[in-house]
Amino acid sequence: MPVTRSVVASFKGRLVGAPPLSSLCTQAHFRFIRFYSASTHPPPASTEALTIGMVGSGPAGFYTAQHLLRNLPNVKIDMYEALPVPYGLVRFGVAPDHPEVKNVIHKFETIAQDPRFRFIGNVRIGHDLDLAELKPRYDALILSYGASQDQRLGLPDEDAIPNVFSARAFVGWYNGLPEHRDLNPDLESSDTAVVIGQGNVALDVARVLLMPLDELAKTDITEHALEALRRSKIRHVHLIGRRGPLQASFTAKELREMIALPDTKLHLDVPLLQSQMEAGSAILSKERPRRRLMELLLKGATNPLSNTSPTSKSWSLKFLSSPIHLVTNPTTQALEGLQLEKNRLEGPLNAPRAVGTGEIEEIPCGLLLRSIGYKSVPLQGLPFDSKRGMIPNVRGKVQNEDSFTSGIYVAGWLKRGPTGVIAATMYDAIETADTIINDIQKGELQPRIGPTVPPGFKGLESMLRARGVKVVDFHAWKKIDEVEVAEGTPKGKPREKVVEVDKMMEIAGR
Ligand SMILES: Cc1cc2nc3c(=O)[nH]c(=O)nc-3n(C[C@H](O)[C@H](O)[C@H](O)COP(=O)(O)OP(=O)(O)OC[C@H]3O[C@@H](n4cnc5c(N)ncnc54)[C@H](O)[C@@H]3O)c2cc1C
Repeated sequence: MPVTRSVVASFKGRLVGAPPLSSLCTQAHFRFIRFYSASTHPPPASTEALTIGMVGSGPAGFYTAQHLLRNLPNVKIDMYEALPVPYGLVRFGVAPDHPEVKNVIHKFETIAQDPRFRFIGNVRIGHDLDLAELKPRYDALILSYGASQDQRLGLPDEDAIPNVFSARAFVGWYNGLPEHRDLNPDLESSDTAVVIGQGNVALDVARVLLMPLDELAKTDITEHALEALRRSKIRHVHLIGRRGPLQASFTAKELREMIALPDTKLHLDVPLLQSQMEAGSAILSKERPRRRLMELLLKGATNPLSNTSPTSKSWSLKFLSSPIHLVTNPTTQALEGLQLEKNRLEGPLNAPRAVGTGEIEEIPCGLLLRSIGYKSVPLQGLPFDSKRGMIPNVRGKVQNEDSFTSGIYVAGWLKRGPTGVIAATMYDAIETADTIINDIQKGELQPRIGPTVPPGFKGLESMLRARGVKVVDFHAWKKIDEVEVAEGTPKGKPREKVVEVDKMMEIAGR
């Protein structure tokens, strides 16, 4: 319920409104006064703090928590995570040969050490606890549970044909995501893989398939993936895009890494690239990063490799092509190829549509990875925009406000749809935290949980115990972390990830 602004106090450099003194008669309001006085008085006891529940421990969760902890002295944050281990896609998405990206974990560890913060791992919201059970225990909930599914191609038998996977599953397999540790892709029956999509994730999986093993062996890639890649016969990877080079969504860093792969040639339709660069010169003169990307592509495709022996590897960017049919062996059902329909572009060059021409091409392949986007899933009781794969929100505040959705916020991929790097996720996490702080300033958000309901995790612990759910706290996660690092060190790896939930729980002593 909004309150009238009458008392204004300085609060960490911000102006903070509080309700009129005459209305401060309930216990919750007394707690409210103490809460807002936090900058000049010692922090009140934990039950008097603003209690925030978070769902998801990826970058969005940690950056939102960091900004709130920095700006709200009297806040308690409980972060629920479905897995026994934290960090979301930083652990299970970011490519193993990008260790510098994973350095954000050091920052997240510092956040987790804050006494006002609690990590509650191995608790899946919507399964172990419902949102409706969480809601009454928290003054605010922040949902940052990312995107745990992927977009489909919509081809017949896409899920039934062996060796056709989502890039999400393949990435999860080499990065140790427990749900995909048994994916077992066949990398030996064919020398050619196809990746549908031309974004950074597509380039990540292509690079992992083609890069020298001695480099990969020094990363935190899982041992089972490394073993399979050692036996791999894959030498050629085609990346398929519906539209043209100007519309490709990978970025320069990832492209440079692909071009720099030793003994690996890039193939693409150079005349098409040149004609698009010419036609799009007005766009390219305004968008320098895109122009540089196109120049890099041209350089990569026209630079003859000194070593083009028959054993050389290759990768290709096939533009203006849509997958229409998976070709299988009639007897074994094994994947043997992919039929593509050639497209032409219609509409403005900065946002053209791909339109099929009816011309069909077939390329042989034995492994197909679709990398056309991740997808968030709805949580019961909340609005969901299934087209954009996100919870509708304004600056992180969930819309369609009713008594259930009020006090619920979103951050990260769930907030803006499943795209964007960690830096973008950080900025929108800060925006969500600022929205919460503004709502506090406006008096729309305040400690409100009455004395009859124990706030936060305290009230839910026994419920979880009764359901047989064993919680992994941050201390227990650090035990897993230590074992992983200790197992990786003799192999020259930063860590050897534990890939089974049971084993994680055993190490955590749960
Ligand atoms: C393959 C891949 C590679 C990438 N590489 C890079 C890179 O090199 N550099 C870069 O800057 N960015 C990279 N990104 C982007 C980056 O990972 C994202 O910007 C970022 O992780 C999004 O953060 P998030 O917190 O919204 O989601 P996530 O990181 O997905 O975190 C969501 C968390 O919520 C948990 N969760 C899910 N459901 C529930 C539930 N019901 N209950 C409790 N917890 C739940 C998940 O287990 C997960 O821990 C990459 C992304 C992908 C997919």
